[in-house]
Amino acid sequence: MKITDHIKNAKGKTLFSFELLPPVKGKSIQAIYNAIDPLMEFNPPFIDVTYHREDYIYKQHETGLLEKISYRKRPGTVAICAAIINKYKVDAVPHLICGGFTKEETENALIDLQFLGIDNVLVLRGDARHADSSFIPTPGGHAYATDLLEQVMNMNNGRYLHEDHDAFKTDFCIGVAGYPEKHFEAPNLKTDFKYLKKKVDMGAEFIVTQMFFDNSKYVDFVKKCRENGINVPIIPGLKPITSSKQLISLPKVFHIDLPEDLSEAIHNCKSEAEVKEVGIEFMITQCKELVKIGAPVLHFYTMSNPEPTKRIAQAIF
Ligand code: FAD
Repeated sequence: MKITDHIKNAKGKTLFSFELLPPVKGKSIQAIYNAIDPLMEFNPPFIDVTYHREDYIYKQHETGLLEKISYRKRPGTVAICAAIINKYKVDAVPHLICGGFTKEETENALIDLQFLGIDNVLVLRGDARHADSSFIPTPGGHAYATDLLEQVMNMNNGRYLHEDHDAFKTDFCIGVAGYPEKHFEAPNLKTDFKYLKKKVDMGAEFIVTQMFFDNSKYVDFVKKCRENGINVPIIPGLKPITSSKQLISLPKVFHIDLPEDLSEAIHNCKSEAEVKEVGIEFMITQCKELVKIGAPVLHFYTMSNPEPTKRIAQAIF
């Protein structure tokens, strides 16, 4: 079922959902089931699975030759989605990224998804490879989420690459990313909104936000979206803090602010166990407020560690 229909059917009740990372190469599907099982009691109507672009390293041979070796650390997104649908009978939402795919490969991936009965996709540009300092598009692929979105919308209208006959119309419900604190590359919030609006005008039907820890950022973002004519559901992305290292890593990697009261409380913790408690309690308060203001879904970035999310969901749902 489409995510927009799940939200409609909930008639204003806040839903619970979460995101998983494919396990690192070499783990079994049981790693995924272990990350899902503890959260099924909260009836997630959908589960997202991230996509990870291939990365590369250079290996120096004895001869002096420098060999570029490409590898993918977390393969398996599409197969994991199929396993989730099969085992749990809930909608699986694969993330679809520009990086690492030619348009031809994207089309084939979308055909696979459609054959598997997947109704929703989250369309993204994707992160830069760790070895690159910024995002480099794949030759023959897409540079922005808008370009990838156009390809998915074309297929929804029966237009495939190099096909001029009456082709089957896919019916993907498309989500895109939104950034309450601005995407780090956008020169200003206004420009970022311009592209978000473009994504929605092109056919995106829901937005999932980057994590935030200050609900006023989400409230302002929703207000600005509505003022800009963006009227699709805006699903808040939420990440419980579980370690003191995240005081530095989250702002650095995700370009978000941590509120002063949260960062002070973590600074004052005497152990990592205490940090985890502070992170969970903070998020319970944050989630209660989000439910009160009518967030359609609370969507948790679990990093495939279900326990903190379970504690929060127990307090909310
Ligand atoms: P875009 O919408 O393409 O925007 C990128 C930048 O370009 C922005 O600054 C925007 O303002 C600007 N821009 C947008 N369109 C245009 C245009 N047409 N012309 C010029 N400028 C433009 N990364 C992964 O690799 N895998 C994942 O599974 C993944 N899941 C994510 C899930 C969520 C909910 C979020 C919020 C992020 C996720 N990311 C993931 C990270 C995401 O890929 C990065 O934040 C990336 O840098 C931007 O992706 P985007 O889709 O927002 O890009």
